[in-house]
Amino acid sequence: MDREKMFALEVISKASVFTKKLQREKTTLFFEKDDKSPVTAADFGSQLLVMHYLQKYFPEDPLAAEENILELSEGKKPILEMITDLLSKEIEDFSFEKIIAKEENQRSKQNSDRLWVLDPIDGTKGFLRGDQFVVALALMKNFQPILGVLGCPNLNDQAEPDTKGNGVIAYAIRGQGTWIQDIDQPGTPSRLSVSNYANPAQARFVSSVDSTGHSNSDAIQSLKSHLHNQEEIKQFDSQAKYVMIAAGNFDVFLRFPPANNPNYHEKIWDHAAGTLIVEEAGGLVTDISGKRFDFSHGKSMEENRGVVVSNGHFHNEIVDFFSRG
Ligand code: AMP
Ligand code: MG
Repeated sequence: MDREKMFALEVISKASVFTKKLQREKTTLFFEKDDKSPVTAADFGSQLLVMHYLQKYFPEDPLAAEENILELSEGKKPILEMITDLLSKEIEDFSFEKIIAKEENQRSKQNSDRLWVLDPIDGTKGFLRGDQFVVALALMKNFQPILGVLGCPNLNDQAEPDTKGNGVIAYAIRGQGTWIQDIDQPGTPSRLSVSNYANPAQARFVSSVDSTGHSNSDAIQSLKSHLHNQEEIKQFDSQAKYVMIAAGNFDVFLRFPPANNPNYHEKIWDHAAGTLIVEEAGGLVTDISGKRFDFSHGKSMEENRGVVVSNGHFHNEIVDFFSRG
């Protein structure tokens, strides 16, 4: 596992520095995907960067990643040129064509019990706004995350929002806890653990910025009323929320299928790394019916609905409230 850990920390550090630079310079192109969500040259660039190194160091391992890089060779030439230009400065032997060829070859022999799962920019809306986003990588074994790494360019080493610094990496290995370290000073990690707030009336809630498109804020409000909780809900994009809970800065993160898209199923790259990071910090992660995440149904989590992430102290109370309907 040491080799995988070293690899993942290094590649996520590179991808985090790369994307943060583009966020600061605002040099990124963006367009809408079919589901109307934005995607940028930085998303594709980050994914290609990770793919390059994954193919180099773990050529046998399959990858499930959010973006469809084949789109770049189908009518998105200006974006491909921009990305090639940017990545050639980072990677001496970068070649889009080689990555595509290796990926196709890899796809034909995917029968491994291992799978890497990547969101090259989780929280693209936050990225474009100058706010929170993360680069998320997990290694799955038999469909369970065993290594989770979140590059958080806009958090500090206390897992607090900080857009001025260089950012941190939070990571967890199953059975070995959750750790955080500076992106630019690796090797001095500190351990994270969830809060011990046990009174649900004082629980600190965190949710998506897109509280109606990615969730259902009415359902969260009704739970808060039930718990007599009047704390303000803080909103952040991306799995940075998982890191903030792992560090004890918040106690609950909830997400519901949105009212306008009740059949939405969460995607594995939006939760695999974050789940391990919270669990290894002592917290709990389930869907709104209390079921653990089932990552074994391809890219969508077909057997789960919604998300409940907590410090564990009143998780059952939350799940019970929603199960009663
Ligand atoms: P957040 O920053 O917490 O709002 O989460 C961002 C992620 O939510 C994106 O990567 C999307 O893939 C995902 N997402 C969640 N719900 C939806 C939805 N209803 N439609 C499209 N994407 C969604
Ligand atoms: Mg995402």
